[in-house]
Amino acid sequence: MRAVVVGGGLAGLSAAIQLAVDGASVLVIESNRTLGGRVRIEDSGDWILDSGLHLMRRRGPFQQLQRRLRAPRVLGKRWDSAKLVGVGCDNRRARDVLSSMRLDAGNVAERAIVPTGGWSSLIDRMITSAKEMGVEFTFETEAKGLLLNGDNKVRAVITNADEIECDCLVLAIPPKPAAKLLESAKLSTTELDACTEQRVAALDAALTGKPMRPYSGYFDERSGVLVIDQSKPDRLPQRGSEDECTLLHAVSLNAEGEEGLNAIKEFLDSHCSGWRNMVAIRRSTKSVMLHPSKLDERVNGRLYITNRIALAGTHVLTPHTLSDASVDSGRKAAKLLMNR
Ligand SMILES: Cc1cc2nc3c(=O)[nH]c(=O)nc-3n(C[C@H](O)[C@H](O)[C@H](O)COP(=O)(O)OP(=O)(O)OC[C@H]3O[C@@H](n4cnc5c(N)ncnc54)[C@H](O)[C@@H]3O)c2cc1C
Repeated sequence: MRAVVVGGGLAGLSAAIQLAVDGASVLVIESNRTLGGRVRIEDSGDWILDSGLHLMRRRGPFQQLQRRLRAPRVLGKRWDSAKLVGVGCDNRRARDVLSSMRLDAGNVAERAIVPTGGWSSLIDRMITSAKEMGVEFTFETEAKGLLLNGDNKVRAVITNADEIECDCLVLAIPPKPAAKLLESAKLSTTELDACTEQRVAALDAALTGKPMRPYSGYFDERSGVLVIDQSKPDRLPQRGSEDECTLLHAVSLNAEGEEGLNAIKEFLDSHCSGWRNMVAIRRSTKSVMLHPSKLDERVNGRLYITNRIALAGTHVLTPHTLSDASVDSGRKAAKLLMNR
């Protein structure tokens, strides 16, 4: 069975690993130069500064996958959610928002882990495992169209470089690019078209000081700013200690662009006094997609299964959210295709 996975983020890597485990020969097509998608590894000198706040839910699909890949080194310690403070709301609400990264969060507070070595070590582990299982990758290759055979089953993916033949396909890309590909094969995309993206501004910084102390994070109900300290000894330069440094990650859930970044900075100025003078590295992101769809817009991963195409990503229906939804939907997409 020749399986193609479009997208080398968490969902695509999870699907590729599962397809390889189940005996398919797998090729991942990635439009970027690197794998990891939205959680792409960023070089930050001698600090490990992930992009965006990245906590792993305890015992969720992502942690379980890491266990199956025998990666005890990356599992890390519990993030101290008891010291997360709600500003203008209670601490329980702050924990709910952090767990789902949504302002319309229900009662979902979950315990979280700061992965050892940062999020990048988790992605590295998945890439290494996928390669060990024989998964192949092609980079800087954008999928631009699909070809179906006479039975309406996928036959090939058209890329900027080539036409790649396949027996089945996982689309592990956000709804809009997925819809574009499906439209090229004249398939209806109504449900994917209805997905509404939520984009946010984010600020990541390594600080030589502890301006949040005694708290581990804040959520501000008025501005929608969520800010946490993800310091751990293994993510700091050798000269630093957890007691003296902060790995600060903040997002503005209400707004993207300059407006969102200004909301984060204003909040930090009023609650983390002196933070500007402690900055060793700082990365501002004006706009990054946090959620590819609203919760009630999520689509069934089997929508195109008669075409031998399965969908994966956080816009696909699963009981999970965020990275757990990517991993779970990727794994299920692979199983759907291999069980047919
Ligand atoms: C600021 C921020 C903070 C977050 N915090 C957390 C957290 O604390 N905990 C948590 O669990 N999750 C968190 N997340 C969510 C997590 O990062 C995402 O759920 C996950 O990375 C999404 O992975 P994905 O594979 O579904 O999609 P993506 O990462 O978007 O991957 C899609 C891939 O497909 C590629 N691609 C797209 N179109 C094409 C094409 N036509 N051809 C070829 N390749 C293509 C893209 O380049 C990309 O590599 C956060 C996200 C953000 C933005």
